[in-house]
Amino acid sequence: RFVVLEGIDGCGKTTQLEALSRWLRLPEAGCLPPGRQLIVTREPGGTPLGLALRELLLHPPGDSAPGSTAELLLYAADRAQHVEQTIRPALAAGDWVLSDRFSGSTLAYQGYGRGLSLPLIEQLEQVATGGVQPDLTLWLDLPLAEAGRRRGGRAADRIESGGSPFLERVAAGFTALAQRRGWCRIDARARPEQITEDCRRALTRLASR
Ligand code: C5P
Ligand code: MG
Repeated sequence: RFVVLEGIDGCGKTTQLEALSRWLRLPEAGCLPPGRQLIVTREPGGTPLGLALRELLLHPPGDSAPGSTAELLLYAADRAQHVEQTIRPALAAGDWVLSDRFSGSTLAYQGYGRGLSLPLIEQLEQVATGGVQPDLTLWLDLPLAEAGRRRGGRAADRIESGGSPFLERVAAGFTALAQRRGWCRIDARARPEQITEDCRRALTRLASR
């Protein structure tokens, strides 16, 4: 099974990823089939090539900051490598994969955020993933203002410092995508333990499907 966590920066994805991976690995969670592993990964940066691309995307040296289209293609390259090297082999072996972001983030940031064509991004998604799709996308829904407060108003990288009109488009994009793609909405304003519990419930349903 392939599970993805999506949401704006500061929505608590990373915290939940840790809590959920610890839980999924417990036998009493009852999700992983006997003898199967959980692979925890992320985008950008789920492979050695991906890590180099992540560094380039988030901290481009000198004047090497990519334009919107180049940025789109770099995320696509990261995803192609991630699917080929990590995700597809794991799924083929019957393992579970839990990823911090996937194609949904590209639609939200490069599509809704940067204004690149959504149909074009969807075509590129097909190329990059070869058709691999999440079985479950958990969307941690948190208002932008609250996410900003949680990180003390600091931008973590180049993309987050893109300013609030950009981030507002991204946030609205996640809301639209959740509808369109049938993502599981998790109320990320709740306490972390409650959020974990809500995610666990969705994972348990997935395991028994
Ligand atoms: O979630 P994480 O902090 O690892 O993401 C790294 C950065 O890349 C974030 O600033 C996020 O907004 C950005 N990003 C992006 N487009 C994507 C995926 C991530 O702009 N497709
Ligand atoms: Mg971040």
